[in-house]
Amino acid sequence: MNRVLYSEDHDLSGIKDVEQLKDLTVGCARCELRAGCSGVVFGEGNPNARLMLIGEGPGADEDRLGRPFVGKAGQLLDKILEAIGLERFTHVYIANVVKCRPPGNRAPRPEEAEQCRPWLYRQIELVSPGIIVLLGSTALKNLIDPEARITKMRGQWLVSKSGIKIMPTYHPAALLRDTSKKRPVWEDFQKVRDAYLKTLNI
Ligand code: URA
Repeated sequence: MNRVLYSEDHDLSGIKDVEQLKDLTVGCARCELRAGCSGVVFGEGNPNARLMLIGEGPGADEDRLGRPFVGKAGQLLDKILEAIGLERFTHVYIANVVKCRPPGNRAPRPEEAEQCRPWLYRQIELVSPGIIVLLGSTALKNLIDPEARITKMRGQWLVSKSGIKIMPTYHPAALLRDTSKKRPVWEDFQKVRDAYLKTLNI
């Protein structure tokens, strides 16, 4: 593994809460994505959540509404969360590898993800979750290892240097394209639920 959460320095340690961080990202122009999108989709949820979900980047619906995971994939994600007894504003915090929509819904380029990473890393530090679910290949490659394969790594716990439990799984959009991925994702989220309940000492 040549990229592990929290391995990179950033200059945002003076930012003390998620709202302050959000205000700063609004004016971001670290990469070219911002010029081609409607606005920054910062993330949302409970800023004190024990569980954080990280997707790829905003799509058309997210770009229009300024919120993460509000399109078809987001609706499926809400159902998955509901199935394990969780709700996005109460129990989780949701963010993406990049905060601006890549044109035509392409995956973010490594250099775009690189520019956005300090925002995401500070966001993770401020939310300080016990568990992170990486939704799909882009999140896995950009937060863990550019060579990692989601098909090989999903369903297995990783642990960050700071002790966060990390579960890679398929992106909900992948489930919409290929229903055979539903079962593995269901199994992965069962593990997430069990770990989540443990963090609450239930
Ligand atoms: N897909 C993502 O990865 N993130 C979103 O916010 C929406 C769709």
